[in-house]
Amino acid sequence: MTQCIALIVAAGRGRRCGGGTPKQYRDIGGEPVLRRTLQAFLSHPRIGAVRTVIHPDDREDYERAADGLDLLPPVPGGETRQESVRLGLESLKDTAPKTVLIHDAARPFVGQDVVLRVLEALEGAPGAIPALAVTDTIKRGKDGRIDGTVERDGLWRAQTPQGFHFPAILEAHTRFAGQEMTDDAALAERAGLDVALVEGDEKNVKLTTGDDLLEADRKLTPKKNVGEVRTGLGFDVHRFCSGDAVILCGIKIPHDFALEGHSDADVAMHALTDALLGAIGCGDIGEHFPPSDPQWRGAPSEIFLTKARDLAAGKGARISNLDLTVICEAPKIGPHRSAMVEKIAEILDLDPSQVGVKATTTEKLGFTGRREGIAAQAIATVIVDKT
Ligand code: MG
Repeated sequence: MTQCIALIVAAGRGRRCGGGTPKQYRDIGGEPVLRRTLQAFLSHPRIGAVRTVIHPDDREDYERAADGLDLLPPVPGGETRQESVRLGLESLKDTAPKTVLIHDAARPFVGQDVVLRVLEALEGAPGAIPALAVTDTIKRGKDGRIDGTVERDGLWRAQTPQGFHFPAILEAHTRFAGQEMTDDAALAERAGLDVALVEGDEKNVKLTTGDDLLEADRKLTPKKNVGEVRTGLGFDVHRFCSGDAVILCGIKIPHDFALEGHSDADVAMHALTDALLGAIGCGDIGEHFPPSDPQWRGAPSEIFLTKARDLAAGKGARISNLDLTVICEAPKIGPHRSAMVEKIAEILDLDPSQVGVKATTTEKLGFTGRREGIAAQAIATVIVDKT
């Protein structure tokens, strides 16, 4: 005698899911939902055979889902789930298994451990179902208003597979044919059978809506190549000299001094440029714009950052974000921060949210504390698409 047969109920129309094909035949992770469900039971060592109850119109979809699997021939279901289960059970009369597990086709993530818990419970009771304790507070509603709070202690959410001693559940289904109940356990209860509750599994979800299918598909589909994340650091210092303004991130900021340098001495832009060059493994600013070359004298530092941007693009590196800290006692950076951010974002064609500009003092310590110059440090993160 076969010990246990799994009866997979796949005759539903899946109307809540949208789309023409019933949900149990739609693909998730490149395979029909039903195929995954069938495989879960076929691979369980304690299950002797698997039979599916299908809608007569779904024969072609079923053949595709069951292709190559070692299954009992499918049987046609009825108008309702309950009728389909009864017809499935009746088809097993001759085989007369000791126990039967009745399972929703739309629960493809059923785990071996849940199946085992149900089977073990059937050794001590004629029925057993996996269930999860209700943890949300349950409200009764009426006309869009709360009409009471339901005591949740002792409430469980029923899952499948629901397991039964075969003769007992066949008898219950025959006796209550035509009296619709929401699950097989309800018939067993009505028949006075003792039904055990065993621990279910949150992963054993029933795919009900189109969103459920999309979410399941997303989980099963290997992540698309998201590219490799790389970072680079930049640091620069320029000393003060006589003048009346400094240039930071391309913004002219009035000050008692200017910054000394070969170019426009935009220490902030230099740090950002080096960070970006570092992230893409392209050396440093001095390599691309040698200080010995007179053509960069007084040059706007924007050309350095533009060069780094173009090198990054050439390497297939997308800039994820840049973050800058300007270190000085004065001038105050705060009033110019958003202009600096906007300028960098504009040069690099980024959203301002991808650019951070911050400032700090060194509490009057060190060369920045003595107001001898300005230091800047930056970090750049890029994403390099893998080829
Ligand atoms: Mg510099």
